Amino acid sequence: MRASTLELVRNAQDHGYAVPAFNIVDEVSLRALIEAAEAADSPVIIQVSLKTARSIGVELVGAMFDSAVRGTSVKAALHLDHCPDLAWINKVIDARWSSVLFDASDRDFDRAVAETAQVVRAAHAVGVEVETEIENIVGVEDGVGSDVLVHSYSPESLVQAAEDCGADLLAPQLGTAHGEYSGRPSLLPGRVREIRALTDKPVVLHGGTGLTQAEFRLLIAAGVSKINISTDLKRTYMRAAHKFLIDAAERDEWDPPSMFRSVSGAVRAMATHYFDLFGSAGQASGSTRA
Ligand SMILES: [Zn+2]
Repeated sequence: MRASTLELVRNAQDHGYAVPAFNIVDEVSLRALIEAAEAADSPVIIQVSLKTARSIGVELVGAMFDSAVRGTSVKAALHLDHCPDLAWINKVIDARWSSVLFDASDRDFDRAVAETAQVVRAAHAVGVEVETEIENIVGVEDGVGSDVLVHSYSPESLVQAAEDCGADLLAPQLGTAHGEYSGRPSLLPGRVREIRALTDKPVVLHGGTGLTQAEFRLLIAAGVSKINISTDLKRTYMRAAHKFLIDAAERDEWDPPSMFRSVSGAVRAMATHYFDLFGSAGQASGSTRA
């Protein structure tokens, strides 16, 4: 069962917590997240970058997700992360994932709004939800994005644009960046409050990896209700694999399933940390199922 992203995030918004949205890289990370969510009784959003969707294939990702969730009590949504490409957006809408992020931040304002409206019409016609991003969040993630701020707007314009195009969730600039931080980011919790005062549409935080516990709590208290975690999953996954392979070389034992178990354990521990930190642990039973 594919849960509604909007429903999971609205429940978080109503109860003052945030739903973590993790970018999976394969079936090992996917199943680890579902297992951790079930153990923590947390809702979870399984996100897929365009790069991963291209490499695994939209059909296979959907089948893997359905199979991983089947027979569990987990409320999980399947979401396409940053996608500026309309052909791929449409492919994922046709495959009925829970939601898509149409990343129009490389377009000028009018074109971004017009194209997002077009995506929303196609998506809503088949029950798929849309996250909108028309300001660019700095940093490059799986080949999408830019290291400089190209488009920034007032909270009023952002909200007006989201209302005009009918998008369901809103991803504004909040001072965070994709990837690893070299210095401390200047976060903008005031901007979350301004946007939340103007609209009921949930606000999404990108570039979560590397923030402190206090910074996460500050942004959740300001009204963020979906938080994307991509870099930390990749780092956790690769470090666990690296450590395993060093030990494997020492022992001269080469058993792939043992490595998958090791990686899975590390990803589950990482996810459990975020469920606790974001307040989503114990919240799945309380929310309504899509
Ligand atoms: Zn992002």
